[in-house]
Amino acid sequence: MNSAGAAVDPLPTSVYAERMSRARTLMEEKGIDLLLLSLGLDLPYISGYHAMPLERLTMLVVPRHGEARMVVPRMEAARVTPQPGVFELLPWGETENPVEIVARLARDSGATGEVAVGDQMWARFLVELLPLLPGAHYRRDDVVTSMRMTKDAAEIAALRAAGAAVDRIAAQLQAGDIPLVGRTEAAVSADLSERIIAEGHQVTNFAIVAAGANAASPHHHASERVIRRDEIVLCDFGGTMNGYCSDITRCVYLGTPPAEVADAYAVLREAQQAALQAGTVGTPCEEVDRVARGIIAEAGYGEYFFHRTGHGIGMDAHEDPYMVEGNSMPLAAGHAFSVEPGIYLEGKWGMRLEDIVVAADDGPQAMNVANHDLVCLDV
Ligand code: ZN
Ligand code: ZN
Ligand code: ZN
Repeated sequence: MNSAGAAVDPLPTSVYAERMSRARTLMEEKGIDLLLLSLGLDLPYISGYHAMPLERLTMLVVPRHGEARMVVPRMEAARVTPQPGVFELLPWGETENPVEIVARLARDSGATGEVAVGDQMWARFLVELLPLLPGAHYRRDDVVTSMRMTKDAAEIAALRAAGAAVDRIAAQLQAGDIPLVGRTEAAVSADLSERIIAEGHQVTNFAIVAAGANAASPHHHASERVIRRDEIVLCDFGGTMNGYCSDITRCVYLGTPPAEVADAYAVLREAQQAALQAGTVGTPCEEVDRVARGIIAEAGYGEYFFHRTGHGIGMDAHEDPYMVEGNSMPLAAGHAFSVEPGIYLEGKWGMRLEDIVVAADDGPQAMNVANHDLVCLDV
């Protein structure tokens, strides 16, 4: 999931200057001649400018050697905070072809070989660029994506603050302060969304509320279904606070859970805690997934856990790195990700437990500390 989030005030120019210089070093190392970033959060990460997702082209053009240019529609130019020494502003008029401008900038700086393209460029602009730079070889940008994976101290502090905010909402849920029985999932979802803002986020990204058998669908859309006694309620919610995302899942049981549910939850909790502890520097991402999956499979629920164990998180709610079989990338200090195994029995019930954690030299740092129990609410 991509969270456009709300634009936040740019950081000091020195931050972007440092990021741009690191990006250029990575371009050198990876043999990339040209970096093209358009929509999404790569652009504000490296330039401070949060472009609206318009049909008009906005693109940061970074040749390996030569000045970076921010190509923007003239009418948007006033919204760009200048960052002297990081990029030059190059506004284009309504009757100009901005893709030709980008191609000319590439040719003028001799950057027409290896071209790295940001994930969220409109396909239209890339398709139009292809014939204008014949001979270029295109690849997914792995410069800014890899930089964004490793969070600095300020970014970790922002993730921690956002995590603490949703922890407070989880505590309200577990204390019975958020009425459930007799309300629709949609009403509870709207309630959670309001609390996400009330606790300091600027944007709610999602508030999944799934009761009973609906909880067996991991991304269930909160419906008009009324929540009843004697069922599990799964709440998975998060938002963006000062540019960084929160994401937490807790389940409560309305009454006394049957043994089947309580036993499965004990397995889930053990799997989640073990996977969280496995998230140490140097551990391959897939190993975090294997740890959770191994415990769940051992208990006989293997086929009922059918999604990856986690996703990276930062400016986007879902970003690199992914905790999934096949991702052998070792975790590094500053990698932030979710650990969220689940068990889903179609037609019966579902459960998931999710925290955000940051890998650090002295072990995994949890951004969420809300009670991990299946809290049973007396209703
Ligand atoms: Zn999800
Ligand atoms: Zn979640
Ligand atoms: Zn998540």
